[in-house]
Amino acid sequence: MSVGISILGATGSIGASTLDVIERHPDRFRCVAASARGDVDGMLAICQRHRPDLVAMVDADAAARLSTLLREHSIPTEVVPGEAGLLAVAEHPSAEQVMAAIVGAAGLLPTLAAARQGKRVLLANKESLVMSGALLMDAIEAGGAELLPIDSEHNAIFQCLPGGFRCGLAPTGVEEILLTASGGPFLDTPLDQLTDMSPDAACAHPNWVMGRKISVDSATMMNKGLEVIEAAWLFGLPAGRIRVIVHPQSVVHSMVRMADGSVLAQLGEPDMRTPIVYGMAWPERLDGGVRSLDLVAAGPLEFRDPDLERFPCLRLAGEALVAGGAAPLVLNAANEVAVDAFLRGAVRFTEIPEVIDASLSRAGSEASPDSIDAILAMDGEIRRFAGEFIGNREGRRRHA
Ligand code: NDP
Ligand code: MG
Repeated sequence: MSVGISILGATGSIGASTLDVIERHPDRFRCVAASARGDVDGMLAICQRHRPDLVAMVDADAAARLSTLLREHSIPTEVVPGEAGLLAVAEHPSAEQVMAAIVGAAGLLPTLAAARQGKRVLLANKESLVMSGALLMDAIEAGGAELLPIDSEHNAIFQCLPGGFRCGLAPTGVEEILLTASGGPFLDTPLDQLTDMSPDAACAHPNWVMGRKISVDSATMMNKGLEVIEAAWLFGLPAGRIRVIVHPQSVVHSMVRMADGSVLAQLGEPDMRTPIVYGMAWPERLDGGVRSLDLVAAGPLEFRDPDLERFPCLRLAGEALVAGGAAPLVLNAANEVAVDAFLRGAVRFTEIPEVIDASLSRAGSEASPDSIDAILAMDGEIRRFAGEFIGNREGRRRHA
């Protein structure tokens, strides 16, 4: 019997890599359900190849268009529109595993639903853990779910920890986690040129091909900041025991320093199919189509400390983790608004941290909301504030 997999965010970069792994092992895995926001052509192609039982399209018009096309192609896949569709994909009874690969806060509710249903949650959507780590970890435990990190760094760390380790427990014998960061496309760009960097330049990552939001996050290093918070939840360690190291070649995907002085690392090609197939096959190992690493061809490997003047977003994320309470939620919401505005040309690259900083100052030291409704309400409030902050700034610029 093959393992049923639901893919949240199937038309994205992680979704495509997951489907590629499934196609390589048709005897082992089947895509039983999939979701997208509005990409009708992408979802039609998935339905033609994979014949899932059910798909969700958040956009209602897109759902209607997809239904028509599926009928024309005589494909019996059911289409469920809206947020209800996302939950139907997450909770599909034939899915033992759920790939959580929606980008941003929109991934939170379906990821929580999969956890409550006791699925194996393959977590790519780091934003859900940053927004509501306590709630998601509780849902994993209450639902009897398994949580396997797909983010390459966290997957690397998971691989380096003792065999019996489960996410959410504090690992024994670990002194420090060393999270590697490529530094993105602007690692060595002269500081005075950063302000003029375009969305396309920010999305031109030197090593990884990813969606546009995470690509901008990599350019600001907010991605690493979110990952530090993600690591704190997954591996039960405080901020002081999670260290970021810039490693421009992206060969070492992260490391763990043990009490006896050993440093364990996981190395590989920068290809997300490695962590994806690891999570799907765990505790077995399968081929995910990734070419083998040639260390001689990879050349010298460099490691440096991050420059917090160049990457203020990384500093803000570290401060948010230490501050605790609502700060990580605020950081994430403001970042999503700022990155979206940057991609639309409404703010400059160097204004992204300013939007986040202003939002964190406005929220002060509010306690962490303890229910999903309170989390979503605060997320919405911060989004409105950040949007207004950007609007006022645009207005001032027009009048200058
Ligand atoms: P993409 O932008 O490539 O894909 C995003 C997916 O989410 C698409 O299927 C998109 O649908 C869907 N989506 C977007 N907005 C919404 C919404 N409001 N509601 C429902 N669905 C939505 O992103 P990536 O695949 O790059 O990233 C996905 C997640 O994985 C992110 O959280 C990212 O941080 C994380 N991640 C990604 C890595 C990578 O290599 N790409 C590496 C590590 C983590 P549609 O196509 O219809 O718009
Ligand atoms: Mg990562």
